[in-house]
Order: sequence, then structure tokens, then C-alpha cells
Amino acid sequence: MPLDLLQFFSELIEQERETVGERHKVIFQITGNNKGFWGDRGLLQQIFVNLMSNAIKYSPAGSSVEFHLIGKESEVIFYIKDQGIGIPIADQENLFQSFSRASNVDTIPGTGLGLAIAKACVELHGGEIALFSQVGQGTKVTVNLPKRFMTGS
Ligand code: ATP
Ligand code: MG
Repeated sequence: MPLDLLQFFSELIEQERETVGERHKVIFQITGNNKGFWGDRGLLQQIFVNLMSNAIKYSPAGSSVEFHLIGKESEVIFYIKDQGIGIPIADQENLFQSFSRASNVDTIPGTGLGLAIAKACVELHGGEIALFSQVGQGTKVTVNLPKRFMTGS
């Protein structure tokens, strides 16, 4: 059956707020037509957690992390945006490959798998993931997931 995206992401955001506590301000907005989206809860949660953990990990205490979801007629678009360290342009295109990390994160621990896993989960839904970033300004990762209309929905 279709997912109630408002409820689904509200619960994830609530958990996130409990985890990050006072360290970050987590902003949450859902708009548009969110009816009729079919997807796998486990995979969606994995995408959300991986992108959110990056946004938190690579941005300073006290900054904001935003989650926006816009429901369209035939797709759902969401993005996670931070005010963090950003990613050098030369490193950006490889980051969706396993074990790839940017050159400006030496002291921040990580394996380099989170984005590759997120991309695989997005592609299993027939969707697309893209990254926009500027060093010193922040990073935005957008995800487009098509709505699949099932018989009887
Ligand atoms: P992990 O596998 O534990 O998630 P990771 O965070 O290093 O490790 P990815 O999530 O795949 O791996 O991210 C790959 C790289 O992309 C990161 O190492 C970092 O260089 C860069 N990156 C990803 N998200 C952000 C972000 N929001 N801000 C700045 N850099 C980022
Ligand atoms: Mg990560």
C-alpha cells in the first residue's frame, strides 16, 4: 500500500532530533501532493539516515540542517541541506562510488560507503540522486523518486 510520507518522515525527523540534541537545528518541511507514493520503508530510511548523518557530521555545531520534501503529481522530490564544510569541486563526481571520500575530511572519520549505499537504494526505486556543494558554504543532496501507480491504489 502507499506510504504516508508525512508520517514516515516526521517520525524519522523526531528520532534525528533526539539523536543530535542541541548540536544542530533540524528544520523540516513537507509540501505538495504526497499521496500515492509506493516505496520500501527500509530503503527510504537508509537513504534518509545516510544523508542526514553526513549533513550533521560535516557541519559545525549550532548550524542548521534542513529536510524538505515536495510531492509532485508523478514524483516525490526531497533534499537535505547543510551549512557545513562543503566539498571541493574536483572531488564531487566520485563520491557516489564506494570508499570515495573528499580531500577535506582527513580528521573526520568515515568509510566512504554512505553515499554509494544511498544511491543504490534510490536507484532500486527508479530514482535519481544528485549533489550540489560549495566549499565553506554547505552541501545539498537532492533525491527524486518516481511515483509508481499500482492497480487498486
Ligand atoms: P560513511 O560510510 O561512514 O558514511 P563517509 O561519510 O566518509 O563514511 P559517504 O557518506 O559516502 O562516506 O560520503 C562520501 C564523502 O562525501 C565523505 O567522506 C565527504 O568527503 C563527502 N560528503 C558527503 N556528504 C557531505 C556533506 N554533507 N558535507 C560535506 N562533505 C560531504
Ligand atoms: Mg557518510
